[in-house]
Amino acid sequence: MNILILGSGGREHSLAWAIKQNPKCDRLIVAPGNAGIAQIAECADFDILDAAEVVTFCAANAVDFVVIGPEAPLAAGIADATRAAGLLTFGPSAAAARLEASKAFTKEICDACAAPTAGYARFTDAVTARAYVEKHGAPLVIKADGLAAGKGVIMGMTLPEALDGIDEIFGGAFGAAGAEVVIEEFMEGEEASLFILSDGVNCLPIGTAQDHKRVGDGDTGPNTGGMGAYSPAPVLTDAILEDVMAQIVRPTVAEMAARGTPFEGVLYAGLMIKDGHARLVEYNARFGDPECQVLMMRLGAQALDLMLACAKGDLAGAQVNWADDHALSVVMAAKGYPGTPEKGSVINGLSDLKGDSFNMVFHAGTALKEGAVVAAGGRVLNVTARGASLQEAQARAYAMVDKIDWPGGFCRRDIGWRAL
Ligand code: ATP
Repeated sequence: MNILILGSGGREHSLAWAIKQNPKCDRLIVAPGNAGIAQIAECADFDILDAAEVVTFCAANAVDFVVIGPEAPLAAGIADATRAAGLLTFGPSAAAARLEASKAFTKEICDACAAPTAGYARFTDAVTARAYVEKHGAPLVIKADGLAAGKGVIMGMTLPEALDGIDEIFGGAFGAAGAEVVIEEFMEGEEASLFILSDGVNCLPIGTAQDHKRVGDGDTGPNTGGMGAYSPAPVLTDAILEDVMAQIVRPTVAEMAARGTPFEGVLYAGLMIKDGHARLVEYNARFGDPECQVLMMRLGAQALDLMLACAKGDLAGAQVNWADDHALSVVMAAKGYPGTPEKGSVINGLSDLKGDSFNMVFHAGTALKEGAVVAAGGRVLNVTARGASLQEAQARAYAMVDKIDWPGGFCRRDIGWRAL
């Protein structure tokens, strides 16, 4: 079959890598793709946020299956358009993607199905929000309702921080995404993520992961899009996982279906775990980046079969064929990240690395310039490895990192520390 993946990051490179290994895949196109993806798939350049362009491209190229990577095309209703055009699609409708696009909506769903999450209140003006914070005191978490690329969440550990957060969001720092503010109880604990495929009715957990948000070793420095990840996450024990499926995930999927907006795609549940219990922090309506890279490394070719079953509404009998393995991904970023990254520095040594089912360098923000791979973004490479233990996966990943000759880049040296 002919398969189109939308997106251009390390997430999409890993999806392409896994899908390409499956004999069902005849032709693989990624739009817009990147320099690494171009080595294994055709890259196409069109506006992936424009529904008409996506549908026209699919018709012209006899695309059989569309896989949507990032949140922006989901929120823009691209999955609605491709489904309406009769195309098999992996990715939720815009209405279902509201589980990511609106934090207030997610809280509404949690209320409706009694899913454990942080206590909260919603506000549309600063005066009332400030009065609420003055009354409740810190710590509180102040959130812009809409999509803000992970930046719309302000930790109000003190009263002034919480009040400043309200002023910042209502002051327009996040545009329309900040028209409503959700103020949450601060939850303590350890964070982990669970990934679930849902065909709108059935749910299939396909792996757990933990990422590393801070830029520096020992979880120091500013927040980033993620500096590394590993799977599985030992903190999500089988018992906690069962509770999460029973109390949070299945009720959410049932509630979405009951509302006439079934969730069809991958649901990413961000969880806070304390004393053996998990509460929901957030939902995302797509794979995490770099969590996807470690999941794809573990799933390999079967990822396509699972995504197809999900898209066809056939998840009832589907199973994940697990190996007893671990995967770990180290993000290499351009100097300056998460501030303004230096672009254009040359990366050497990549062609000497073997890419196989245990060792892969996924490209995130790269470009080709005069035959050389150069940095073209903040997070640039995802050096990913698999092993029989997390230690083995970590050693393999850092052995690859050490062979990459890139003076313009850096990475954390402690990815996996929490589990090790
Ligand atoms: P991202 O896309 O980066 O995951 P987001 O903008 O979707 O972020 P959230 O996931 O809701 O926002 O929050 C970002 C981070 O803030 C969480 O991963 C968690 O570390 C922290 N956080 C959010 N809500 C709470 C809470 N109620 N208590 C404690 N920490 C929280």
